[in-house]
Amino acid sequence: MKITIFGSGYVGLVTGTCLADAGHEIVCVDVDEDKVARLNAGEVPIYEPGLEPMIRTNMDAGRLRFTTDAEMAVNFGLLQFIAVGTPPDEDGSADLKYVLKVAETIATHMQDYKIVIDKSTVPVGTADKVSAAIDKVLKQRGVELEYDVCSNPEFLKEGAAVEDFSKGARIIVGTDSERVKRAMRECYSPYNRNHEKLMFMDVRCAELTKYAANAMLATKISFMNEVANLAETLGADIEQVRHGIGSDPRIGYHFIYPGCGYGGSCFPKDVQALARAASDVGYNAELLNAVESVNKRQKGKLFQKLVQAFDNDLEGKTIALWGLAFKPNTDDMREAPSRELMESLWKAGAKVQAFDPEASRECKRIYGERDDLTITDKRDDALEGADALVICTEWKAFRTVDFDFVKQKLNTPVIVDGRNLFDPDTVKSAGLLYFAMGRGESL
Ligand code: NAD
Repeated sequence: MKITIFGSGYVGLVTGTCLADAGHEIVCVDVDEDKVARLNAGEVPIYEPGLEPMIRTNMDAGRLRFTTDAEMAVNFGLLQFIAVGTPPDEDGSADLKYVLKVAETIATHMQDYKIVIDKSTVPVGTADKVSAAIDKVLKQRGVELEYDVCSNPEFLKEGAAVEDFSKGARIIVGTDSERVKRAMRECYSPYNRNHEKLMFMDVRCAELTKYAANAMLATKISFMNEVANLAETLGADIEQVRHGIGSDPRIGYHFIYPGCGYGGSCFPKDVQALARAASDVGYNAELLNAVESVNKRQKGKLFQKLVQAFDNDLEGKTIALWGLAFKPNTDDMREAPSRELMESLWKAGAKVQAFDPEASRECKRIYGERDDLTITDKRDDALEGADALVICTEWKAFRTVDFDFVKQKLNTPVIVDGRNLFDPDTVKSAGLLYFAMGRGESL
C-alpha cells in the first residue's frame, strides 16, 4: 500500500519505518527541514533500539522516503496518518493546532479519496474537528472530494517502540466505515497474522481508549508512590510490599514500581488532558487530579531528600546524577524527573555532574552550556569530586556498582536512589548512607 505519514517524531518515524519494513511504500513528511535533511543523510534524530538499521534497510530498498513536500506527500498515499504532537495547552487540554494544520494541508492538496487517520493522541471528538477542518478547506477550494477520518491511537512505548509496534497487544481502529475497515485491515495485515489484534470500534471509543490506557498506567504509578511514601513514614520497606501485592494475579507485577515520578511526553500530558476534558463536560475527575498531584509531589522527592541530607545547605555542592532520560532505553527528557531535580539544585546553588548512556545530546540541546552542568562521557566520571550520587533513571548499566569505589569517590557518603536499584544492606555495608524510595529510611 502507499502510505503517507505526517510527523517524523517518535510515533511517526517508528510507524513509517515499521510499515515500510512490512513491505508498504511510505512517504514521511515533516515541517522540520533540519530533521528531514538529517534523516535523508542517514542520521536518526532519536535513540530507539533497532530503529536505525531498519530505517537504513528500508531507505535503501526505496520503500521509505522523507520529505518536506506536503503536496507530493498528500498525493502519494491512500492512507494519510497524522502523527504530530498534541502538547498540553495552557489549561492542560490537548492542543490540536498541529493536528488540525495537517488536516488543512491534506484538504488543500488532495485530488481524490483519502483516509485520514488520527494516530496522535487526541481527545474524544477530535475526528469531528478534523472532518470540519477538511470540509472547510474543500469548500474554499470549491471541490467535492470524498474522504474518511478514523482514529488509530498508538500504544508504543519509547525504548521498545519498534518491538511494541510490531508485536503490540492490540491495534485499535475507530471507524464505522466498511471501506476504512478493509483498508486498515490491509495496512496492518503483516502484524495481524498469528491472532486477531485488530479491534474495530466507534471513533469516540477509540479516542477514549488511548487516554484511559495511559491514565490507568499513570494511576498505578502514583498509587505505588503514595504507598511508598507511607511505607517510608511507617518504617516499612515498599519493595517487600511490592512483591507481596504483585503476587496477587488481580494486581500483577507490572507497573507497580515506586520511584521519583512518571515523566515523558505522554503520561503527564494525557492525564491532564483527560481531566481537563472531564471538567469541560462538568465532571470533576477526582482520581485523575489526584494521580497528577501525587506525581508532581513525587518529582520533588529527590531534591527534598538531598536538602535534608545536607541540612538545607546545597550551595556550592556538586551532585553526581546518573540518568537524564525519563526512562531507560530512550534519549527523551520530556518531563523527566531529572529536569526537576537539576533545576531545583541550580536554584539552590549546587552544581550537577550528569551521565546518561543516550540523553547527553538532548540534555545539551535543552540546557546549552552552563557552568553548573557538566555532562560526562563515562558513568563513573560523574562521581569525580561529587558530594552525593543521585539515580534518576533505571538504566541496566547502573545496576552493578562497586560501592567501595563509590564511597571512595564521593566527598560525603550519600546515595539517593530514585529507582530502588540496590539492596540497602549491601550499600550500607560499604559505609554509605542510602536513601531510596519508600524503604523505611525517613529522611
Ligand atoms: P514528536 O514531537 O516526537 O514528533 C512530532 C513531529 O511532528 C515533529 O517532528 C514535528 O516537526 C512534526 N510536525 C509538526 N507539525 C507538522 C505538520 N504540520 N506536518 C508535518 N509534520 C509536523 O511527537 P511524538 O512523541 O511522536 O508524538 C506524536 C503523537 O503521538 C502525540 O499525540 C503523542 O501523544 C502520541 N504518542 C506518543 C507516544 C510516545 O511514546 N512518544 C506514544 C503513543 C502516542
